[in-house]
Amino acid sequence: MLNKKSVDDISVKGKKVLVRCDFNVPLKDGKITDENRLVAALPTIKKLLADGGRVILCSHLGKPKGEPKPELSLAPVAVRLSELLGQEVKFAADDNVVGENAKAAVEAMKDGEAILLQNTRYRAEETKNGEAFSKELASLCEVFVNDAFGTAHRAHCSNVGVTEYVDTCAVGYLMQKEIDFLGNAVNNPERPFVAILGGAKVADKLNVISNLLEKCDTLIIGGGMAYTFLKAKGCEVGTSLVDDTKIDYCKEMMEKAEKLGKKLLLPVDTTIAKEFPTPIDAEIEVSVVSSSAIPADMMGLDIGTETAALYADAVKSAKTVVWNGPMGVFENPILAKGTIAVAKSLAETDATTIIGGGDSAAAVNQLGFGDKMSHISTGGGASLEFLEGKDLPGVAAADDK
Ligand code: ATP
Repeated sequence: MLNKKSVDDISVKGKKVLVRCDFNVPLKDGKITDENRLVAALPTIKKLLADGGRVILCSHLGKPKGEPKPELSLAPVAVRLSELLGQEVKFAADDNVVGENAKAAVEAMKDGEAILLQNTRYRAEETKNGEAFSKELASLCEVFVNDAFGTAHRAHCSNVGVTEYVDTCAVGYLMQKEIDFLGNAVNNPERPFVAILGGAKVADKLNVISNLLEKCDTLIIGGGMAYTFLKAKGCEVGTSLVDDTKIDYCKEMMEKAEKLGKKLLLPVDTTIAKEFPTPIDAEIEVSVVSSSAIPADMMGLDIGTETAALYADAVKSAKTVVWNGPMGVFENPILAKGTIAVAKSLAETDATTIIGGGDSAAAVNQLGFGDKMSHISTGGGASLEFLEGKDLPGVAAADDK
């Protein structure tokens, strides 16, 4: 079990606290178009300010690829954060992040004040976990807090390198919540534990499939990845998305499920069409056939109605459900029915429901089921690596309790 030092376990009064946040918000014409990530960061920031910390915030934004890009400046974030916190968050506008402005601002800070550094990815060393920039960041603070789960699967200066040079390194509330939900689900789930995997390709989720099979009681497969499994079972899958190089892998997984006594559910029926819709939301003619009767010239684009009911039923008896990846081409309303049915079944159950970020999180929110889930992970890639059973460098770098 991960037992990391959190912001509740440290004393920050009068101390300079560097906080790695996830302020990677969408911007349009210099305006923040979705401030969820800022709002989500507030509890940790408020706690540190209330405890008398001198709070130095940092984050990356977009992919400036190691050089200053004015359109990816964090300046608008400082403005909005000031409004949300009801106190000024001074912006240290140094293109080299830890520059003269930042150093002077930190020097002048009083207890309970906050500043924000420039986009950490303005520095090329950031994503290479370089020593010099890590040390520069560390030189600003006495305590480090990491609250950016979305980058926890990467070892960068601002979440991993910096921890080498700071004595006290803790995790923030957001990070703690991710560790608690994902960690508990994977390592200590209340059973039955049902894992649902979808999305485009088997190859993207090889390790997730294998690891979850060991941990869960039932593994449900939908989306594009189901057809490689169906083909491995000997079904005709027509022109559906198939990865021929992973047929043996799918066979292995089916054998593994049997050996471990786990249920591995595959679609029993499939929504098919002549071709992939273009544009993706184009109106198309579909029909539903048995998964063993997909005509050679047709393509599976969603789970069928019987499968949707079967999957919803499996969710009903679960105590823990983890879901990653849509059941079909959900961007098209005609092909979103399977994804909606699964989302609805999760919304209706009393089980602990965890959405593994990315597309699935977007789908659940879009459908208006967001507040019905126990936890929606803020990190697509990071949550997948968690589900693979990997150690996340950004989490591992924090002190143990
Ligand atoms: P995240 O990890 O971010 O939640 P994901 O795992 O859902 O993402 P992908 O593996 O890219 O991401 O899968 C999502 C995509 O899979 C969607 O764009 C969806 O349209 C596509 N998809 C789902 N079912 C099929 C199918 N049967 N044929 C082709 N594409 C499909």
